[in-house]
Amino acid sequence: MAVTLDIAHRSSPVEPASETPSLIGLDRDDLAAALLSAGVPERQIRMRIAQLWHWLYVRGVSDFDAMTNVSKDLRKLLAEGFSLARPEIVSEQISVDGTRKWLIRFPPRGAGRPVEVETVYIPEEGRGTLCVSSQVGCTLTCTFCHTGTQTLVRNLTAEEILAQIMVARDRLGDFPDAETPQGAIVPSEGRLISNVVMMGMGEPLYNFDAVKKALLIASDGEGLSLSRRRITLSTSGVVPMIGRTGDEIGCMLAISLHAVRDDLRDELVPINKKWNIEALLDACRAYPGLSNAKRITFEYVMLKDVNDSLAEAKELVRLLKGIPAKINLIPFNPWPGSPYECSDWERIEEFADVVNRAGYASPIRTPRGRDIFAACGQLKSETERLRKREREALEAGA
Ligand code: SF4
Repeated sequence: MAVTLDIAHRSSPVEPASETPSLIGLDRDDLAAALLSAGVPERQIRMRIAQLWHWLYVRGVSDFDAMTNVSKDLRKLLAEGFSLARPEIVSEQISVDGTRKWLIRFPPRGAGRPVEVETVYIPEEGRGTLCVSSQVGCTLTCTFCHTGTQTLVRNLTAEEILAQIMVARDRLGDFPDAETPQGAIVPSEGRLISNVVMMGMGEPLYNFDAVKKALLIASDGEGLSLSRRRITLSTSGVVPMIGRTGDEIGCMLAISLHAVRDDLRDELVPINKKWNIEALLDACRAYPGLSNAKRITFEYVMLKDVNDSLAEAKELVRLLKGIPAKINLIPFNPWPGSPYECSDWERIEEFADVVNRAGYASPIRTPRGRDIFAACGQLKSETERLRKREREALEAGA
């Protein structure tokens, strides 16, 4: 049975994040400026940054008092001007398959009211993947995606993108000295969060600066230390930003492709009207660092009688010729009011066979967390959540 914990009002040693400026999400230059403005002497800045970086991103502390090698006076000074508070977790849902979904609330920051996003943890054999959101809602309207029905409220800041990783590591006990919660389904060895995918709510390349800053901090070897090979940014196809993603972030790239003809992709992924399949694949071919060891993942959602013919499988193979690629076939995850059905399992396997025979790895992504609406394309925040009646109807049909 799926479990939902409403933990928003539990007493916690960590105060909810406020509008007080946070030190999380600042790069080293920003951190230097913040410390100088707080009155830290210039000759100490490098040393203080190294100390803070370690406490924030290696130890995961959320209280200045825990920084035992920082003098009491400086801790007091920092606490007066800055916050390390985690955002409020409104709820934590745990699926029967161990997938966890958090609804996280951030301050308004111009939105007029607090905003909420969803973050999902997917444990698998040998790895644990965190699916992180980049925007509250989305400006795009991909017709198979539930998030696409929620208009954009605002972009997340670098702090808020990183905070999703920090919250997940807190809740999983994935910082040193922290305990993994009892009953948590996690990989048997290694880091509990070994991979990050920017595939949650929003189009990350429409929030490039904040996403870049957050991912560079997440991959910094003296902090959270996530390998860039284990960070994947998924885009619906913002062509002009694809080269910069490779050059400036250096992470793995995933493309929400979902169709092999422009007329159909115009409908499923409307950004295609701006940058069509040809332009998108040209940008992929030029992706910095592309090689057999650094392949692009093409995501293809399986929609019954829409994009799942074997002729389309063959066309997919033809289109991707010459691009080091993996193809992820995603069984469609329904949501109330969605206009599509998932392809039959037999058809998904036949489609996968065509792609496999052409030499592409094409795992069929097992739907995870369906019972807590955590599966691909199902994320939507509290501001526009399913009404209880809709949820019950969907659960009855699951
Ligand atoms: S698939 Fe991504 S880009 Fe498209 S509507 Fe959903 S969140 Fe936005």
